[in-house]
Amino acid sequence: MADLTIRDIRCFLTRHLVVVKVETSEPELYGLGCATFTYRATAIAAVVHDYLRPFLVGKDPSQIEDIWQSCMVAAYWRNGPVLNNALSGIDMALWDIKGKVAGMPLYELFGGRSREAAAVYLVPGGRDLQEFDDNLNRMVDEGCRHFKINGLQSILEPDMSRHAPISLTRKIPTVDPTSGYLQKHMGRIEDSRRLVRVIEAAFDTFRTRFGPELNALYDVHERLPPMDGLALAKRLEKYDPYFIEDLLAPEDNDYYRILRQQTSVPIAMGELYNHPHEIVPMIKDRLLDFLRLHLSQVGGLTPARKLTSLCEPFGIRTAWHGPGDVSPVGHAANLMLDLHAWNFGIQEAAPLYRPDSILSDMFPGMPQVREGHMWSNDGPGLGIEFDETLAVKHPTPAPDAAAMGAMGNVRRPDGTVIRP
Ligand code: MG
Repeated sequence: MADLTIRDIRCFLTRHLVVVKVETSEPELYGLGCATFTYRATAIAAVVHDYLRPFLVGKDPSQIEDIWQSCMVAAYWRNGPVLNNALSGIDMALWDIKGKVAGMPLYELFGGRSREAAAVYLVPGGRDLQEFDDNLNRMVDEGCRHFKINGLQSILEPDMSRHAPISLTRKIPTVDPTSGYLQKHMGRIEDSRRLVRVIEAAFDTFRTRFGPELNALYDVHERLPPMDGLALAKRLEKYDPYFIEDLLAPEDNDYYRILRQQTSVPIAMGELYNHPHEIVPMIKDRLLDFLRLHLSQVGGLTPARKLTSLCEPFGIRTAWHGPGDVSPVGHAANLMLDLHAWNFGIQEAAPLYRPDSILSDMFPGMPQVREGHMWSNDGPGLGIEFDETLAVKHPTPAPDAAAMGAMGNVRRPDGTVIRP
């Protein structure tokens, strides 16, 4: 397509999502990208509108590699969640445009598909064990075989999931939650030794009730000191976990060297990584089994494709981060790599399992979860559309104190802030 240029770039803040739309000089030809960083959404919009848009309007949208590299270094200081998410919004949209111009889904442009659909893990919940069993058995009947079992923690130890300070005499500053999405992260108290015991109990309960065949995963959310994490991994070996996620924090990356010498528990890590220096040593030194990047946090499809290829000769599989604060556009991008990459492992997909109607209406063509797998509609590019009018009707709430503290209010019993 001769002389195609970027005509405009717009950034939409809707609900807790950030979506970038890159429009071209060709009427009706545009691309969509996910730039969602829920807790700093307006900062992403400022970078897109104030810096990337004037830098990119008029340029050739087919030159994805050159645009990615030039944006990455254009401010001299680079990487980090705000800049990377903004760049991801552009990058995914340019790939979407390239696929539409070619008339192919992106997995075809990447080299073709390795599988028909991507196996997913789901997150069963429930108020008690009976409800948990019912929910999980329904998912099994529908074809799912992989389950994140964090929901058992709140059934076995309900105190650990309360959103208010417990068993404290000293007053802890808390923030009034105003958003349902943010509320679940507020004001929780956690004790690391107690957490080790309850995670082991969750695995024991799961294996007792469901036997050895189903796959169980757990997200530790980097809440343990390194040696408590090592102790937990050893205690979980006999329960045959599919993987343990975020057992240690990125700041404790080097402790994985010690962990790998002492336990065979498969390790999944990566949603908190922003910088190549956090990621590359973990791959080259074989310190993890599943690379679990949040695609927009590393800058989009362009770097994620390269890291996927780097993982392959090291025997590392992918398990892209796919929570509620990835937009359906971001889930579609995850899926394009899942369908293509030989070393795909598993895909997180809970928000697409039974999506709310606004999301389904706002993102026609979004990936579908059925039969334990995520499916593409095989449309060109990312295969997804976006109802801007509906998005404008559901704007992201203005930042407030709740947004500021949303991920920072998990504390030790003595009141010390710990990682959320
Ligand atoms: Mg996680």
